[in-house]
Amino acid sequence: MDIHRADSRPTRRASSDWFTGTVWQDPIVDAPDPARVRAARVSFEPGARTAWHTHPLGQTLHVVSGVGRAQTWGGPVRELKSGDSVWIPPNEKHWHGAAPNHGMVHIAIHEALNGVHVTWMEQVPDDVYGTAPTA
Ligand code: MN
Repeated sequence: MDIHRADSRPTRRASSDWFTGTVWQDPIVDAPDPARVRAARVSFEPGARTAWHTHPLGQTLHVVSGVGRAQTWGGPVRELKSGDSVWIPPNEKHWHGAAPNHGMVHIAIHEALNGVHVTWMEQVPDDVYGTAPTA
């Protein structure tokens, strides 16, 4: 058994290659093979979001606090609120992040396939991000 103490794994700032704005990541599950589930707490400042991306085996997002946004390629921007859980199917192109005027924190849970848990694509431009969301 390994106990990862809260002060043993520093908060990391997410790469500007794959995120817009300021995003902080704290690992929850980063287990060695043959485990393949990963989980992280991700904190988005207002306006911050991921780039477009896919997950080979899908992803669950659970919103812990704040107000967020998420969108599937070709679909409307959706609003997320604290307590919401989102399932993103395997290989569905999408992004997620905070609302323009609210921070958002979610737990992200996803599995790796052949060591790959995410495939990053282009950034989400302001005009796409700024589209009025549907519930
Ligand atoms: Mn995702």
